Amino acid sequence: MEAVSASLDSMAAQRELNVFITETPDEARAQAEASDKRIAAGEALPLDGIAMAVKDNYCTNGVRTTAGSRMLENFVPTYDATVIRRLREAGAVILGKANMDEFAMGSSTETSYFGTTINPAGTRLGLDNLVAGGSSGGAAAAVSAGLVLAALGSDTGGSIRQPASFCGVVGMKPSYGVCSRWGIIAYGSSLDQAGAFAHSVADVATVMDAISGPDSADSTSWQGGRIDFSGAAARRPKKLRIGFPKEVLALDATADVDAVWSRAESVAREIGAEIVELSLPSLKHALPAYYIIALCEASSNLARYDGVRYGHRAENPQDLTDLYERTRAQGFGAETRRRILLGTYALSAGYYDAYYLKALKVRRIIADEFRSAFTQADVLFMPTTPSAAFEIGAHSGDPVEMYLQDIYTVPVNLAGLPALSLPAARDARGMPLGLQIVGPQFGDESVMAAAAAVEVALNQA
Ligand code: GLN
Repeated sequence: MEAVSASLDSMAAQRELNVFITETPDEARAQAEASDKRIAAGEALPLDGIAMAVKDNYCTNGVRTTAGSRMLENFVPTYDATVIRRLREAGAVILGKANMDEFAMGSSTETSYFGTTINPAGTRLGLDNLVAGGSSGGAAAAVSAGLVLAALGSDTGGSIRQPASFCGVVGMKPSYGVCSRWGIIAYGSSLDQAGAFAHSVADVATVMDAISGPDSADSTSWQGGRIDFSGAAARRPKKLRIGFPKEVLALDATADVDAVWSRAESVAREIGAEIVELSLPSLKHALPAYYIIALCEASSNLARYDGVRYGHRAENPQDLTDLYERTRAQGFGAETRRRILLGTYALSAGYYDAYYLKALKVRRIIADEFRSAFTQADVLFMPTTPSAAFEIGAHSGDPVEMYLQDIYTVPVNLAGLPALSLPAARDARGMPLGLQIVGPQFGDESVMAAAAAVEVALNQA
């Protein structure tokens, strides 16, 4: 209870960071009291008393869930997402719903209807105008600012790993299918995955153990058995083969990428790993393929916001078309509207084969190239982002500039792979830079084990 009260106090003291869209102090106190009772009775659950934030695209029973959009400004779900139910069943204390880009579309939280989250790692250096990353920027910032011990994000094209990198925390996206998507407000259904932020690999593992596992409510949930995240994080792999894709530097050789890359090589040596240089020739095609597939799926998923069943509704409609048009024009922000338009265009007759089907073929090729890379290496290293946290407004005028933030993260989602970002280097300003560890499909344990070894080496440096 004391820990939760302290968290609630810091939450109030740090409101200028704009971490939460909705705070839930009363629920948090009730959950903390229940945790205290279980702990006193010697019946503690794995997450008892752990203060957490959850991204605002997880449906929470009785608590407003906005997905960062005006469209859902007053939407109060009547049920919990499966991963939220599992968090509660594990004893977690949820302090609030964290800020995010609208419908998880963005890399900075600047598309949120509720304003931009400020990067706490920046404010600690006296830089108070840096973005926390996105789309799960609020969740990453909540951990980075010390408001909570862990947080849930979601990752469609990098939305956990990129803000983790920007805010200097650990963030993991599991293999597609490892966590249930039931009750997550959908963006790109074939790409969306739940995952966790925390300060350490072991803490991320504890949360992943609580939320992962099959769910009959999600037909894409993996039935292949339980992944032991914590067990893997406690294991020290004997001989690790780490793949370094040689195309990484060709994609965007910034000074920040160089910094992460040289640190990655020295860490690989320090942990006694074998460095395997390998090739992912189609890496550069991942970004355009992702931005076709994700937008096509988004245009379909977002068709449900019509002002009829729930969400924003335009006043005094003249007729049904007028209701749809004004509801959607008012409820969606500019980036969301752009994506719906692009996605609808790419799916329309005459363009479907040229764009959508072509992108699916690229997706298959990328997945195949990863599969063959994992015959040579146990895990791959990649930078998480082309640069450290940027200033608010730096890319918001140019959507393509913003999309380029995702070059190292989207290939992983296209192939459905597990990946974790952990803070590994710093840029010239002292801002954190993440190293991404990517595993084979359902090789989440390999990622955890490698990450734990890398973390030890980084902490010793
Ligand atoms: N920045 C990417 C996008 O806008 C990824 C977002 C995400 O993973 N939700 O699509």
